[in-house]
Amino acid sequence: MEGAAPKILFADVAGVDEAKTELEEIVQFLKTPERYTKLGAKIPKGVLLVGPPGTGKTLLAKAVAGEAGVPFFSISGSEFIELFVGVGSSRVRDLFDQAKKQAPCIVFIDELDAIGKSRSSGGFYGGNDEREQTLNQLLTEMDGFSADGKTVIVLAATNRPETLDPALLRPGRFDRQVLVDRPDKSGREAILKIHAAKVTLGPDVDLVAMAARTPGFSGADLANLVNEAALLAARAGRTAVSQADLAEAIERVVAGLEKKSRVLNEKERRIVAYHEVGHALVGALNPGSGKVEKISIVPRGMAALGYTLQLPTEDRFLQSKEELETQIATLLGGRSAEELVFGSITTGAANDLQRATDLAEKMVTGYGMSQVLGPLAYQQPQNSFLGGGTMGRSVSPATAEAIDNEIKAIVEAGHHKALEILRHNRGLLEEIAEKLLENETMEGSQLHEWLSQVQTPAPVAA
Ligand code: ADP
Ligand code: MG
Ligand code: ZN
Repeated sequence: MEGAAPKILFADVAGVDEAKTELEEIVQFLKTPERYTKLGAKIPKGVLLVGPPGTGKTLLAKAVAGEAGVPFFSISGSEFIELFVGVGSSRVRDLFDQAKKQAPCIVFIDELDAIGKSRSSGGFYGGNDEREQTLNQLLTEMDGFSADGKTVIVLAATNRPETLDPALLRPGRFDRQVLVDRPDKSGREAILKIHAAKVTLGPDVDLVAMAARTPGFSGADLANLVNEAALLAARAGRTAVSQADLAEAIERVVAGLEKKSRVLNEKERRIVAYHEVGHALVGALNPGSGKVEKISIVPRGMAALGYTLQLPTEDRFLQSKEELETQIATLLGGRSAEELVFGSITTGAANDLQRATDLAEKMVTGYGMSQVLGPLAYQQPQNSFLGGGTMGRSVSPATAEAIDNEIKAIVEAGHHKALEILRHNRGLLEEIAEKLLENETMEGSQLHEWLSQVQTPAPVAA
């Protein structure tokens, strides 16, 4: 619960430029609150930093206080778990009392999920009393302090935003969220530079090459890497860190990481790159579901190996049959690219296939878009035993079979369409995939320019 202003600045954090830009404004609020309050604007109270472990959330929170030159108070949610009832809430009260005395300042709550877990997820017997009281106290404090005109901004960090109690995310609480993601290649280079500046480097060290060899590393992993290399050099009695030390340190850090997350080998990276570009190329011909804004092959934990981000250009509530069909083709674009280029299929497309199948099922059973089955709704809510309220159908076996056949036909048609588009644009597919392998992410106008070259294949008779 220290109080002094940290010496850490934004310059000590790298590879998270978006997050820094958003937090820049918080620094301004702390430095010159009058500028905003004079106009009647309310200063935000809570900002949630969301991202995987070791990406620099704590570091960024300190840097906000450091840049603004204000005191920094912090607690961690996990400290409260073992406490007796009542202790957690009184700690929260004390913390905010101190903070208000020293306003403007930052209160940082690490591991917010440990106190802020959704109350409904507490289990049959109502969950943990202590946690609930602590959470309520926190909500009370946050609701209270605007009234007394003190600028206390609460920053909190979590890597599990989906588990948080919705009460925490309401307006006036943690209503701003800032994504702190794993760095891409140029981000890793910048982070390596920061940490390498603290050790003595030999003349052969090439940080650009090191950045290229560390996809998936977080900022903390990179800091650890530099430190391991320095230890190796010191153990060997050398006076500077060499490229070989860094290379060996990578092995060590990777060995530690392999248990936690996946580090892709070169073959896998190629497959993921072609897969994502496959989605992007097919998606580029489908303006109905938005522009492709970003492709990334920076690994993110277990879930997705890469991703393609398609943002809607306008709010859409109605979608035509053709749009849904192209959406299915886009979902199959990843797997189709793998088939086309590598002649084999990996498990990476499982989620895509599930989503494509779900969409096709909705078209047939919910939207009446199938010629064969006609405009009937075959979906009806069924109460499952545990009250899940899942959708299921109770139809005759013959109809069920017809539905399955229709779903299969729709998905297959999407698959063919995707293959056709990719065959027709094979050269572009390779060019963009190679570019992506080089840079790991592609976005904005550079990406739009590439994708504007995608050509619609000439229609062939079915
Ligand atoms: P988090 O809170 O997201 O788990 P931390 O801020 O605690 O991560 O990071 C731990 C350490 O790793 C930092 O003190 C710093 O040395 C290093 N680090 C992490 N992210 C970055 C980054 N983006 N830039 C520079 N160093 C970083
Ligand atoms: Mg942290
Ligand atoms: Zn995919």
